[in-house]
Amino acid sequence: MSLDLDTSTDGVLTADTHLVQSFADLDLLKQDGARTVIVGAEGAYVTDSEGNKLIDGIGGLWCVNAGHRRREIIDAITEQLETLDFYSTFYNFTHPAAAALATKLAELAPGPLNKVHFANSGSVANDSAIRILHHYYNRLGQPKKKQILSRHGAYHGSTHLAIAMTTSAYSEGWDKVQGLVHHLRCPHHWREGGEMTEAEFLVALLEDARARIEEVGAENIACFIAEPIMGAGGIVMPPAGYHAAMGAICGDYEIKYISDEVVTAFGRLGHFFASKDVFDVQPDIITTAKGLTSGYQPLPATILSDEIHEVISDRGGVFLHGMTYSGHPAAAAAGLANIALMERDRIPQNVRTTGKRFEGNLRALADMEMVGEVRGSHFMMGIEFVRDKADKTPFAPEDMIGLKVARAAQKRGLIARPLGNILILSPTLVMDGAMIDRTAAILRESIAEVHAAL
Ligand code: PMP
Repeated sequence: MSLDLDTSTDGVLTADTHLVQSFADLDLLKQDGARTVIVGAEGAYVTDSEGNKLIDGIGGLWCVNAGHRRREIIDAITEQLETLDFYSTFYNFTHPAAAALATKLAELAPGPLNKVHFANSGSVANDSAIRILHHYYNRLGQPKKKQILSRHGAYHGSTHLAIAMTTSAYSEGWDKVQGLVHHLRCPHHWREGGEMTEAEFLVALLEDARARIEEVGAENIACFIAEPIMGAGGIVMPPAGYHAAMGAICGDYEIKYISDEVVTAFGRLGHFFASKDVFDVQPDIITTAKGLTSGYQPLPATILSDEIHEVISDRGGVFLHGMTYSGHPAAAAAGLANIALMERDRIPQNVRTTGKRFEGNLRALADMEMVGEVRGSHFMMGIEFVRDKADKTPFAPEDMIGLKVARAAQKRGLIARPLGNILILSPTLVMDGAMIDRTAAILRESIAEVHAAL
């Protein structure tokens, strides 16, 4: 059946009045109507309804790692739907695609992370991790061990529980689960480190973590949850050694370490998973999503250690957790094809070169007057703009500086994501050298234009 969609700008914008956008100023959208209608995509580019071809500098939403419209992934999804459109993984049912993908993830995930639960969004993968751990401690006869350590600046999703683990900037005016989450210091040296060296700042962060654990009581704390590099909180790379040291502290206090690799996995930092390979920490649980299917189908995973799985599976009783679409056949097929493609084309290995070039080109923008800090790693980068570079004075929110630079960049053929005074870049992982250089050139011109107009 052909859907025969109206793809004209006017047609879509009329229909769009019924769509509630996510993470948008809905009032501003009504007033200035500045929406971009994306109608097509290919490789590292998308096309808008006005016929503009734009570099997809945010990879859909940090997720189209393998690039857009890859035949291999589309064919695998189609073939799966033609064979088995849907069946669940509830009760005693399973199917070939979900089983094969769980096996593949067990092979790729570090150490004893060999058991995989699928859900339907990254937020729910994190909720699942918490629910499963709470259940785990109930079964161990430690029902008080439920509290969660997170960090200021974190982003773990937008369900009632995930938003409670997220930085408060994302829940102003909204409710969230109360009394369960304790936020440790944000590990951002440039903004939070004062006069300290990075090494001194690391010591301070670890002292803060130990003090909070003593205050709450390790017997009451289930887990520590952390993104390897904070993403939607503004791209924060912790001081060297931070995750390994936090892993050791969690080990000392018998607190489970959850690594939220919703963004950092599947090649974005040059490896299938970043926790062990980049940050030298062995988590007890990894949650992931996005790049797992390169966004072609919604599919997150909560990957558990053998030890956690043993406790939740060895003593009888029903595992009362799951979503209808957990391990959806088409999504699992997308994941399998995406990983096969990444292995065949050596995408994570290539990112170690191309991603470094991207990072280097963006870091070079730090010589501009309005640029306070360029941070991140490989294809996960942020640029923070400041009014005064010497004392890091931020722009006021009403300056809408990130938005202005993003709009100037889009005019020149690049989509980037504004976040207050920060511009975020998380493109597809298939940009060639010329596109990488062009991205940096567009950013330089756009920042200069906005600076000149101040
Ligand atoms: N964790 C991290 C680190 C994320 O960046 C996101 C989404 N950007 C989520 C969790 C939530 O994923 P989802 O939007 O699929 O629920």
